[in-house]
Amino acid sequence: MPSLDLRSLAAMSGIMAVVLGLVLLGVRANFPASIRGLRYWGLAPLLCASSTVLFVLSGVLPNWLLVLAGNGLLMVGFAFFLFGSQRFFGQPVAWRRWGMVAAGALSLMAVFLWVQPDYRLRVLVFTSTLALVCVVHVRLLLRHGQGFSSRLAAGVLAAQVLVLVGRGVSSLWLDSADSDRFAPSLAQTAYLGAFSFSVLLVSVGVLLMASERVRSEFEHLATHDSLTGALARRALLELAAMEMQRWQRYQQPFAVFMLDVDHFKQINDTHGHLVGDAVLRDLVTQVRAALRGADRLGRYGGEEFLVLMPGTDLAAAQVVAERVAATVRSAAPQAPAPHCTVSIGVAAVQAGDATFELLLARADAALYQAKSSGRDRVAVAPADVVLF
Ligand code: GH3
Ligand code: MG
Ligand code: MG
Repeated sequence: MPSLDLRSLAAMSGIMAVVLGLVLLGVRANFPASIRGLRYWGLAPLLCASSTVLFVLSGVLPNWLLVLAGNGLLMVGFAFFLFGSQRFFGQPVAWRRWGMVAAGALSLMAVFLWVQPDYRLRVLVFTSTLALVCVVHVRLLLRHGQGFSSRLAAGVLAAQVLVLVGRGVSSLWLDSADSDRFAPSLAQTAYLGAFSFSVLLVSVGVLLMASERVRSEFEHLATHDSLTGALARRALLELAAMEMQRWQRYQQPFAVFMLDVDHFKQINDTHGHLVGDAVLRDLVTQVRAALRGADRLGRYGGEEFLVLMPGTDLAAAQVVAERVAATVRSAAPQAPAPHCTVSIGVAAVQAGDATFELLLARADAALYQAKSSGRDRVAVAPADVVLF
């Protein structure tokens, strides 16, 4: 099997890594500020590429510079990939710890270069340090990452660990004297090829991770109310339409309740709109705590909220609504927000409900009844009354 030209391979991988690094740094400006870690991720392939440039210059540069700077840049490059992921997942960047690990590894390599020259031990120190960085990174990605992109990056880094272990173990059979790094052996080709590929694929993986995060943030913005974090009206009505279809096809019961804050205008008028906003935010937290896992809470408009309860009949929905009203009633107000209560109208889907609007109209009528009979209470729409 003919060997590849290693210098060209190394140079090609360097160019690809530089392009990807620049792309990662370039997209920073277009991504929301909430996407962290792009700077480290962008610098990582650039550092790995600088190391490649040094290896391409082997023969021009003194050997010691090549060994220490070249391997040091690779270690820092892989550490920067890790730092980027730490930032991305909102964790502190372990600068000091990894700085000490890199300094220790480079000092050992210096010892095996000048004090007791040994190529095998240098390879062992380098491969084990880099494998450690990769293992920690894989663990972080598996713990916090979601979706294909983080699994791609984790898979590539795990493969890189195997390559490094293979390289470390095989170095035990090497001649301890300095060997020519660019000797065109198959093992060397595979080793350098694996490096260039992993830098490339990890860069692609982290770029995809960042764009997946942007997509899910925009999706969240589009489907959630920005003040309270409850579902936005449109998303809520889409879910309701799906539940209506389930009812029509499989007769799966489905209930809703409409919740309205009592005398909210008075709260605004007395304490100001900012306090009114805080009341709405607290209210959503309290209501969520009283709901069950499958129940969905959405802001229908102003100080009115709608709760969808899939697979729930009228009696069970009333129990949940009573619990929500009691939770809000007994909640200790967080100063300066005043104490507040809610009125709730409950309705369940019934034969003849052609559209969700019919169910909603019954919940609304029940809410009106709760208001007119004194507020701070739950009213249930009679099951057999068909409005309109
Ligand atoms: P009732 O007990 O009959 O429900 O009386 P109410 O005062 O709660 O009802 P009304 O419909 O008269 O007042 C609702 C108020 O809610 C009026 C509106 O200015 C206020 N409001 C709507 N959306 C927001 C919001 O996002 N923030 C704040 N602070 N106020 C809001
Ligand atoms: Mg109100
Ligand atoms: Mg209202």
